[in-house]
Amino acid sequence: MASYRITLLPGDGIGPEIMAIAVQVLKRIGEKFSITFEFQEALVGGAAIDATGEPLPAATLETCKQSDSVLLAAIGGYKWDTLPRHQRPETGLLALRAGLGLFANLRPATILPQLVDASSLKREIVEGVDIMVVRELTGGIYFGQPRGVVETETGEKRGFNTMVYSESEIDRIGRVAFETAQKRRKKLCSVDKANVLEVSQLWRDRITVLAADYPDVELTHMYVDNAAMQLVRNPKQFDTIVTGNLFGDILSDAAAMLTGSIGMLPSASLSSARPGLYEPVHGSAPDIAGQDKANPLAQILSAAMMLRYDLNEAAAADAIEQAVVKVLDQGYRTGDIMSDGMIAVGCQGMGEAILAAIG
Ligand code: NAD
Repeated sequence: MASYRITLLPGDGIGPEIMAIAVQVLKRIGEKFSITFEFQEALVGGAAIDATGEPLPAATLETCKQSDSVLLAAIGGYKWDTLPRHQRPETGLLALRAGLGLFANLRPATILPQLVDASSLKREIVEGVDIMVVRELTGGIYFGQPRGVVETETGEKRGFNTMVYSESEIDRIGRVAFETAQKRRKKLCSVDKANVLEVSQLWRDRITVLAADYPDVELTHMYVDNAAMQLVRNPKQFDTIVTGNLFGDILSDAAAMLTGSIGMLPSASLSSARPGLYEPVHGSAPDIAGQDKANPLAQILSAAMMLRYDLNEAAAADAIEQAVVKVLDQGYRTGDIMSDGMIAVGCQGMGEAILAAIG
């Protein structure tokens, strides 16, 4: 019987509610597929700040490193928004990504047929959209040095950050993207701002060189402003998109919204070895925390991605994804994806429906 050590990071807001459901689902899947999970819970984000004063305690990072995979819910909330930057929940998340060497963020934006009408775009634009955004996660302007705010001679403050990519950083994310495209429809669009930024020109040059190793993948390049436009004009033209940290942050959220609900979207962050980090795209939704209103499906689908990418348990991942489709077919909806004639359920109710669908 396969056995895996999984670190659970429930975090803040709706995090503990949706994590509890995902754990129930994993236990049920484990029974069906003869998989044992050894779960260990650790602190991150606001919960960690309250308990230890730091958003990512050293013990949490160590626990994560010693596990086969890490499942995170969400971090953050109003309570910690005024703390100095190094003590904010988001700083803990950035440190976790850096500490685990998670340089590749995979964010699928797939429209499920049952939820086409939840999108704010017209049915004919979004029906059939199936995009994977591969975002570079540990480089670029979010980590580049120098950075800071200085006071100039006139007494005016000046803020600055540095957008930087080395060839090796571009190559490793590029290879993940080409390999991801190979498993999909073999189309890769690299997004940059090469008409203005030197760092983007280097990005474009390296991705073009890499393409020679993947002759089966059709490579195109697009400027980020055009990509933002094309995502809402004709999203079906995209299969796999690869881009840097800042552009990826923005474009993956835009792609997410094509699907109608942020409560449906999982993500995977990978390094060159296990463990990867799996988490919903959404935040901690403090506005609905503790009210049994959260949609747990993004968390459940993140657990499915974990089974597929880190644990190589594709059949178990398929079973979870099929259960999600089944409950949507049965008409169960949380508030964020509710439409006329559907059956309203809360976080718990959705979890029960998924468990019943798994059988
Ligand atoms: P958010 O994603 O938490 O919420 C945006 C909106 O979507 C809210 O109206 C919320 O109720 C709704 N929503 C989100 N997830 C939902 C779900 N599963 N089911 C139903 N509705 C859902 O983004 P925000 O409001 O900008 O941020 C709230 C906090 O989360 C902030 O502290 C922010 O820093 C943090 N955050 C964390 C992450 C992360 O953990 N990776 C990501 C984004 C934001």
